Amino acid sequence: MQEDDKREYLDPEQMYEKLEKSVLEQNPSVDTARLRAAYSCAKGAHEGQKRREGSDYITHTIAAAQICVEMGLDEDSVVAALLHDCIEDTKLTHADISKRFGITVADLVEGVTKLTRVQYTSKEDEQMENMRKMLMAMAKDIRVILIKIADRLHNMRTMQYQTKEKQRTKSLETMEIYAPIAHRLGMQKIKWELEDLSLIYLDPIGYKEVTDALEERMPVLETFMQSMEQKIKLRLDDWGINGTISGRIKHIYSIYRKMYSQNKQINEIFDLCAFRVIVDNIADCYNVLGHIHDMFKPLPGRFKDYISTPKPNMYQSIHTTVIGSEGIPFEVQIRTWDMHHTAEYGIAAHWKYKSGEQGVKQGDEEKFAWVRRLLETQADSDAENFIHDLKIDMFSDEVFVFTPQGDVINLPAGATPIDFAYGIHSAIGNSMIGAKVNGRIVPFERVLQNGDIVEVLTSKSAPGPSRDWMKIAKSGSARTKIKQWFKKEKREENILNGKAAFESELRLAGIPMSAVTDEEMLPNILKKLAVFSLDDVFASIGYGGMTATRAVNKVKDEIQKTQKLPQKTTLEKMNERAEIRKAQQTEKISVHGVLVEGLDNCLVKFSRCCTPVPGDDIVGFITRGYGVSVHRTDCKNYLTSKDDPKDGGRWINVSWAAAPSESYVTTIKIMARERSGFVMDIATVLNSLGAKVLSLAARDLDGVKSTATVSLEVKNTAELDIIIGRLKTVAGVTEITRAGD
Ligand code: MN
Repeated sequence: MQEDDKREYLDPEQMYEKLEKSVLEQNPSVDTARLRAAYSCAKGAHEGQKRREGSDYITHTIAAAQICVEMGLDEDSVVAALLHDCIEDTKLTHADISKRFGITVADLVEGVTKLTRVQYTSKEDEQMENMRKMLMAMAKDIRVILIKIADRLHNMRTMQYQTKEKQRTKSLETMEIYAPIAHRLGMQKIKWELEDLSLIYLDPIGYKEVTDALEERMPVLETFMQSMEQKIKLRLDDWGINGTISGRIKHIYSIYRKMYSQNKQINEIFDLCAFRVIVDNIADCYNVLGHIHDMFKPLPGRFKDYISTPKPNMYQSIHTTVIGSEGIPFEVQIRTWDMHHTAEYGIAAHWKYKSGEQGVKQGDEEKFAWVRRLLETQADSDAENFIHDLKIDMFSDEVFVFTPQGDVINLPAGATPIDFAYGIHSAIGNSMIGAKVNGRIVPFERVLQNGDIVEVLTSKSAPGPSRDWMKIAKSGSARTKIKQWFKKEKREENILNGKAAFESELRLAGIPMSAVTDEEMLPNILKKLAVFSLDDVFASIGYGGMTATRAVNKVKDEIQKTQKLPQKTTLEKMNERAEIRKAQQTEKISVHGVLVEGLDNCLVKFSRCCTPVPGDDIVGFITRGYGVSVHRTDCKNYLTSKDDPKDGGRWINVSWAAAPSESYVTTIKIMARERSGFVMDIATVLNSLGAKVLSLAARDLDGVKSTATVSLEVKNTAELDIIIGRLKTVAGVTEITRAGD
């Protein structure tokens, strides 16, 4: 940390002019009016905001834009870099920016903003890897990541003005996230700088040790480098090879890592110095290699040819380590200019070529294929399209979400909280009773987005998964786990459900059940289906191991083999199916008529404890995987559980839809003095009112009192009130209550 803190406030105008000049150098046809407009716009928006050291805030965004220019990014990126903090820190919106600078720039700025908002926590390597992938996926357009890296680089360069706390967290994030991303994108120069800057704050003592040791050796190293450089230069000149030679001390962090991870002293580290020879063509690379090995003694096992076998991040060079005249080993890297640009700026070098006079170079498609390889994507996506719109679409089939602890979980795109729960552990999935995304309870169908924080609510007494979950789950592994649960835990239920499905399918096929259970037929059918009993068939259908259609088809085949079934015409079959569909649909619609706040399409059922009907004040309870159950607000269960710390949070607002048209089932309880003919009288009243009674059960309580429970269908409370009013006039009736009261 430099303490020579002679604060000089930076002059934005001057910085901007320098920026414009650099942009013009790279691309003379750039729209400078647009560039200046972006500068003034950002300047106005950040007016009054200061950097910690006292300069105007705009100096940061100009500096970030300058880095983007050095990377060779295109005009849109530079404009976006100037505006990159506007959505986050000023009143400007995506729409404002889009209107003035186009949708591309607005999207880039918004992308950077999203990345800025991601919270990091330090984790083990695998977690970090997912985090990096998530950032790449969120960025969508690779330029977003590059602008973010430029932003981070400038922030790291000015980190000395920040608090200790911020220095540490930002440096850790840089070391764990941004330097590796820069590395993967092949941006060596930026990666080195990010690492060195981070090290200053992460291990100030270690950093100082390395720099002190280097400084001590500096006079020797410098003389040495000069003489080596000259020697090589002379040799190349003699042989008429046009080459540029430069020597450098390796970056601090790479020396630091060797010293601490391999437990070495600085004088035990070989290549402190590295020379780079840049030539015009590949043939010269190998020529130079020959001369170097002729002049100095090569160290065995230190020769690497990344020209014939490039690194996955597109890096190409020949590396060799030799021993110089003073016995000091040094590394030589030999490459062409083309390879050099790629090594310095990686993927960003793409724009350098692109803005050059001949447009996109042949072979760029090939060059960019590595990004996808590198980031382990699907092998079958289309490389050309990827290059064409420079989108990071390699993660389009994946989504990355957080656990509340900050772990990143990788799921298939379209995944739901159910996939998430089973992705963590099947025990979590099986005991799931609800889910929160970003702190709010959501339906299980909710599709997760990159960066969502997902929390699974579990309970020991959870009833286990519901069959609907298999339809909701996106990942095969979650579905398999749910199936396994049903197979294991729910044989009885599977048999019941499977039997029902089998029977209805059988009816469709026009086969009577008796034909299946027929003594002569049954053994053949079981053999055909490869099971021991019909229950096995039902269980398998029940847990989803076999479809009812498939089972019935096999049964049909088997029966047709032995006897001729009356064949139905296709039209008849279609009509039958249509009828059944219709019946199923009406059944589904009848559960509607209730609006659930925040949920569009969830399963609604009416509680059995208080059987609400339209007109009642109602409230919904998010059940364990079976949708929302609707209760009356005066229901005992609601009143006792609404403040419960565990379940209280699961009550949500529901309301009757504007015009509920169907009937609702409700239950009433009639208390009366015991007398003969009581039930008869009740039935007569109900009949005279045309009430749709589903059941009526009466019981003698103690010879003095009796009670009747009536289940009936009504449209609303008004209708129910009339019925209750008339029943009260029946002789002997003392009280009428609704169930749940
Ligand atoms: Mn920034």
